[in-house]
Parts: sequence; C-alpha cells; structure tokens
Amino acid sequence: MQCSPGICPRPSAGGLVAVAGVQQVAVLGSTGSIGVSTLDVIARHPQQFRAWALAANRSVDTPAAQCREFQPRYAVMMDPDAADTLRAVLAGECDTEVLAGPEGLQQVASHAEVDAVMAAIVGAAGLPSTLAAAEAGKRLLLANKESLVMAGHLLMAAARKAGAVILPIDSEHNAIFQCLPAAQSGAPGLEGVSKILLTASGGPFRSWSADAIAAATPAQACAHPNWSMGRKISVDSATLMNKGLELIEACWLFDVAPSRVEIVVHPESIVHSLVQYVDGSVLAQLGNPDMRTPIAYGLGWPQRIDAGVAPLDLVALSRLHFEAPDETRFPCLRLAREAAAAGGTAMAVCNAANEIAVEAFLAGGIGFAAIPRVIEATLSAVPSVEPTSLGVVEAADRDARDVAAWHVARSGGRPNPGGEK
Ligand code: NDP
Ligand code: MG
Repeated sequence: MQCSPGICPRPSAGGLVAVAGVQQVAVLGSTGSIGVSTLDVIARHPQQFRAWALAANRSVDTPAAQCREFQPRYAVMMDPDAADTLRAVLAGECDTEVLAGPEGLQQVASHAEVDAVMAAIVGAAGLPSTLAAAEAGKRLLLANKESLVMAGHLLMAAARKAGAVILPIDSEHNAIFQCLPAAQSGAPGLEGVSKILLTASGGPFRSWSADAIAAATPAQACAHPNWSMGRKISVDSATLMNKGLELIEACWLFDVAPSRVEIVVHPESIVHSLVQYVDGSVLAQLGNPDMRTPIAYGLGWPQRIDAGVAPLDLVALSRLHFEAPDETRFPCLRLAREAAAAGGTAMAVCNAANEIAVEAFLAGGIGFAAIPRVIEATLSAVPSVEPTSLGVVEAADRDARDVAAWHVARSGGRPNPGGEK
C-alpha cells in the first residue's frame, strides 16, 4: 500500500480512512527504554508525528524534561504524588496538563484526538491501557508483550471489533510482520507459510554452566550482550522467559499454533526472525540491534521512515551463528511452553509469577535459579480457567502474585513491593 507523504491510512470502525497532517501519538511508558527511543524517532519527524501524551509511573525528572522538549497536551503519572510534583515543577513552564492514576492513563489511551498509542509500560500494569487503546480502534504500537500473554484473546478480539491495527514493536514480531505475506486487508496473512522461526540472542548466560547461572547477580543478568533494555526484560532475556513470552505473543499476533513456531538461538541479534514458506524459501529481516528500527516501522507503516539507525555492515560482521535453545539450563522456556499448551489463564499466571520472581531477584531476595522454581510452583498451584473477561484475567493475576510471593518468601527472601528500576 502506498501513501503520499503525511497521509497514512488509519483504521477506524468504518474501515481505512486517510488522515492528513501530523499524527498524534500517546507514548505510554515514555521514560523507559522503548519510550525514550520512541521519542527519539518522533523528534526526527516533526512534520509527521507529535508526542501528544506522555505517561510514566513515578519518576519525575525525566517526564519533566520530556514535557519541556515535546510540549505534550497531557502527561500522566501513575503515582498521584508524582503527578502533584510534576504539576508543580512544570507550572509556568509549559501548558501540559498533568493527569494521575489508571483513569488518566485510560483517558489518553482512548482519547478521540489520539491516532497512535505506543504501549511501552512494563509488565501487567500495561494491560488496561493497551486494551483501552485497542477498544478505541487506535493504531496500537505494541511493545508491552505481557498484555498479549495475559489476555491475548481479549486484546485481539477488541482490536478486531474496533478495527485497531496492531503493529508489533518487539523486534522479532516486527520482523515476522515484515516477512509474512500481506492478506487482502493489508494485515499479515499465513498463505504458503510453513513455519515461523523466532530468534533469541540466548542472553548473557548463553554459554555459562548451570552452576554459574545459578550464582548470577542482578548486574550480570541485566548486562545484555546486544540490547540496552529495561531491567525486567533484561532478566527475562537472561532466563529465556522473554522468548517464552514471545512465543505466546507470536501465537496471538499471527494466529499460529505453538508447534509452528521454532525458537533458534542467534547470538549476534542481527537476524530478528524469519518466516519459512512451503516452497523452501525463508524470508528474514536483518538489522542492527536498535529498537528504533521496529519503532520507526510501527510509526510510519506502511511507509518507511528514517530511524536514525546505523546501516548494517555485513562484511564487518562476517559471520552469523545459529544454535538450538537449551531448555535444561533455561527451564523458563519450557514453563512458558507448558503454560501456552495449558491455555486459559495459565499464561497470565505464568506472567504474574515471573514478574514477582524477577522483582524479588532484582531486589536481592532470591537467587537466579529460584526464578523458574517460583514460576513452576505457582503454575502447579493456581488452576487455569477460561479467560472470559478482564476481571477473570486480573483475578488469576492476583492469585498468582499471592502464591508466587509465598514461594519467594519460602525461598528465603521477600519481594520488594516497590520493585526496582
Ligand atoms: P523500562 O523498565 O525501561 O520502562 C518501563 C516504563 O513503564 C517506564 O516509563 C515506567 O515509568 C513505566 N511504568 C512502570 N510501571 C508502571 C505502572 N505501574 N504504571 C504506568 N507506567 C509504569 O521498560 P522497557 O522500555 O524495557 O520495556 C517496556 C515494555 O516493552 C515491556 O513490556 C517490554 O517487555 C517491552 N519490550 C522492550 C524492549 C526493549 O528493548 N526495551 C524490546 C521489546 C519489548 P517510570 O520511569 O516512572 O518507572
Ligand atoms: Mg524481543
């Protein structure tokens, strides 16, 4: 699909309509790794995009600086005290209206003036606003994979009903989106596709022994060899739970069974994922490991826009490697697969237990090897039910958090309720 500069097709309940001029973007999680990269891309294209709303949890200095630079219509702070502070800091400096709490978040995610929502809040906290954006038929730039893992059925159904286009921002899913054939609607289809090959860097412990992995510290777990990311996803990459969550994410996004998704470890993180076709062709998307590429793709789609990313130098790279994942040293991958096979709320339970275990690990409460143990014990204790509504999913999430916290305490530590960045 071709569009003139500044005019992009936008989904609405009534189909595709042309929208001229600047696209208004709500950046949820603006202070995080994805949020900052999103603002970097937006700043490169002031004629095409405006950061219309920003949202964060409780950090104030970064949102204040972002408000001064981008002059958004709204800034939302999840924490009401942080909202008060931000309001005071910005008084007389810019006209940004500061909102607080989940209502503020939902308001900007579904506001009539918003064209696109970057869902980049970390963890289950991102689900209500992501769902609100889908229900409002927005162009949904989906980084918050936890929403799909927890409530994939609800989120995909809401997007379909409201005509929201979901553009995957997770680099692997963005790559798959780019390599799949376009269906009639312009959305990715599956015609002629035999398999999806989801690449994984293997994380910082790819070549470590099981004993060394068990003794890993938070600093070591967060030192990803290729990507600079928030602390939670960095630990998920180290346990390979990230790849397990991404397997589930791929199944919802592209409507495929887990058996059609193969995970391939590729330590260089240059091939972001691949699609294999029945005729033996394999299409891949390559690029330097810089999240501004999938972010720019999501913002500009179906056009291509400059992302500020250095061009790929294949000669300098010279070699790319591929190997099978090791589910013995990295049991989280198996646990995510089992949760996907169990279906229902098992995936929400897996996600919640993982969030509690990772938070405890980052706070120094449990060791690295206890993360999969806490998740496995929680999955065995909390029964899976049909995720018929957001309430059912949230109840499963709460139950799993309670059970996981109990197992964390039993492992010799206590989770840090405030978490840690
Ligand atoms: P960060 O930890 O860097 O940033 C998290 C953002 O979420 C911050 O803006 C934070 O605000 C905000 N936040 C945290 N808790 C809440 C809450 N309860 N309510 C509202 N806002 C909240 O995370 P990343 O940017 O690394 O990741 C964001 C999402 O994108 C995750 O779901 C991750 O899996 C996904 N993703 C990230 C990738 C990456 O390269 N980083 C790659 C692919 C996917 P504050 O600063 O105030 O705490
Ligand atoms: Mg990814």
